[in-house]
Amino acid sequence: MNVERSDILQNALDSIELGMDDFELGEHKRIVSAVRNFYAGVLLLGKECLVRSVPGENGMHIISSRYTPFIDEGDSKLKYRPVGTKTIDIEEMKSRFRDFGLKWPESNINNLQRLRNNLEHFHAKESTSQMREIIKECFPIIENFFEILGLDPSREISDAWSTMLKEKEFFNDVQGKCIKSFASIEFPVELDFSNLKCEICESSLIYQADESNKYLSDVELKCKSCGEDYVAPHGFPRMVVDQLCGADDYNSVKGSGEGVIFDCNSCGEDTYVSTSDVNICFFCEESVGGECVRCGDGLGIENQSINNPSSCDYCDHMMSKDD
Ligand SMILES: [Zn+2]
Ligand SMILES: [Zn+2]
Ligand SMILES: [Zn+2]
Repeated sequence: MNVERSDILQNALDSIELGMDDFELGEHKRIVSAVRNFYAGVLLLGKECLVRSVPGENGMHIISSRYTPFIDEGDSKLKYRPVGTKTIDIEEMKSRFRDFGLKWPESNINNLQRLRNNLEHFHAKESTSQMREIIKECFPIIENFFEILGLDPSREISDAWSTMLKEKEFFNDVQGKCIKSFASIEFPVELDFSNLKCEICESSLIYQADESNKYLSDVELKCKSCGEDYVAPHGFPRMVVDQLCGADDYNSVKGSGEGVIFDCNSCGEDTYVSTSDVNICFFCEESVGGECVRCGDGLGIENQSINNPSSCDYCDHMMSKDD
């Protein structure tokens, strides 16, 4: 039997979507059906991870439960072929992940497995809400498998994925990962990441695509909720500045010359923030300080001359008159 890898994936996605439809409907019978579908989906998605990890191989040679040795007539070597059509169960899948060098997700799937097996023969003794909890426990596994597959759940199973994100614990879990993606960046101030919003879907589940990037100005954002590459219209530094200072301050500085956001004299971006606590350009990290060489007044972004960074606007003006 030859297993098409795309069939496994498609069946996995269908099962998860059916499972989440049932999950959302919420009545007892539907939750029982959700357990079955969702479990089947998890199992299939895990199999797809294994199959994809060895490109070009026959899928059945990877996910079969039993193999028998034989001598190959062509090269007289000892080889193995699958016996029967039984494929691996969860326990076997765990060990096969290990043997294939794939990381097994940390989440707990045992409860779902036990529940699914009991439901084959008995009425569930668990209540509807207990069963929902057990299904929810396995949401992170789905996310992990998608990660291994390099696929985006918001694109592959978009409705099911939004149903999953409606569950607070899972949302927090995903949000925690998003925030962690910024860990290598040193922000000039402490940020409330929940204020950063995707402009397409309004979700705060935006993250840095390249977790190793250290520079605010190089951040490329993606959204876990809608799956889009999020391009902040004025760049990430400005996005951070806006959420930090609010649009009002920005408007006031544009209009009247007062406010806390300034054009940076060093890089020219309008990402320089000057408040009692913060004095830095979020784009180039320039921080204006020291004193004017002519009058000795303290220098800040407000009064530094753009032509002559070591003097104030007034002195630069006076000196240019002297020329
Ligand atoms: Zn989005
Ligand atoms: Zn700058
Ligand atoms: Zn001066």
